[in-house]
Amino acid sequence: MALHRFSAIRGHRAQVSALSRLILRGTPGHAYLFEGPEGVGKDVVAQSLLARLACTRADPASADPCGACPSCMAFIRGDHPDVTRLEKDGATIKIDQVRNALKRLRYEPVVGAIKGLIVESADLLREEAANAMLKSLEEPSGRTVFILVTSKPQMLLDTIRSRCQVLRFAPLSPDDVAALLIAEGQPEEMARPASALAEGSMTLGRTLCDGARMAFVDHVVAFALRLGIDAPSEAAAFVEGLGGRLAGIRPDESDAKGKDLVRADLPWILEILRSAWRDALMVATGMPAETLPHARVASGLRALAQRVDAGRLVAAIDATQRLEDKLVLNPNPKLAMTAVLVDAAVQLRS
Ligand SMILES: [Zn+2]
Repeated sequence: MALHRFSAIRGHRAQVSALSRLILRGTPGHAYLFEGPEGVGKDVVAQSLLARLACTRADPASADPCGACPSCMAFIRGDHPDVTRLEKDGATIKIDQVRNALKRLRYEPVVGAIKGLIVESADLLREEAANAMLKSLEEPSGRTVFILVTSKPQMLLDTIRSRCQVLRFAPLSPDDVAALLIAEGQPEEMARPASALAEGSMTLGRTLCDGARMAFVDHVVAFALRLGIDAPSEAAAFVEGLGGRLAGIRPDESDAKGKDLVRADLPWILEILRSAWRDALMVATGMPAETLPHARVASGLRALAQRVDAGRLVAAIDATQRLEDKLVLNPNPKLAMTAVLVDAAVQLRS
């Protein structure tokens, strides 16, 4: 826990301004559900909301906390006595954890203006634990704010959901991911390509900011920029080598292990290919290559943009998006990948 401020949040403008409006009108809710993809910053928004509501010297005209009162100082130290965080214990959030957390909410706030409870992965509240929480959500004590957070809203019980104000979060833009990664200290030459592949998630973005993973990205990008120049047999040789390069560096190691290319690998590889072609497309439409995610291969982007026209880059991107159909017909991921690359190579032939 740290002291977060709405004014410092990147992205989520609609969500932040909706919450800010409620604060400035003096009508914040007592139970929120923040739902949206993993790693986009829902928790930072939750902490910003609680920090402002708990602040005892906040400027009524500002949605930010003061930064100096005892409550703000407790957030800065990371040991706020009035804010409880409920996390999973094993695979679920257990009923005893809920009961203990609710017990802590019964007493008056120690340093802040409110008491707050953040429930991480609220979808892991099984029926019994959820029921224990329902009454509190229904009849809140005056100065308690609940924020339930989930990336799997479809798993949440309707009884919980219906008692919360729901705020839906979207993936971050690649620009926001890049800026946030750089702000966290990631080198720009990793943060930029990672941001193009992170699907709007800081969690995935951080995972990709890794030397071995970036070397793999570079390998695939180099191939993407060359596709259509080499003989079609190049595609088969490239696919043959992918499995060995992926061992130990898959973004989600739980999905696939070992040195064989598996289906779960294909979306990531296709996204890398598309990201390279998208950048070349941007160059073809006049964007300077140095401003794009794959700026470190700017000369390769320019060469591809000169070699083929924009329409054929779009066709190559489309070809990779048809992979799903191929997978249905083709249970072998290597063959499916090769087929897609041969399709794309036809588009990119000089
Ligand atoms: Zn304060």
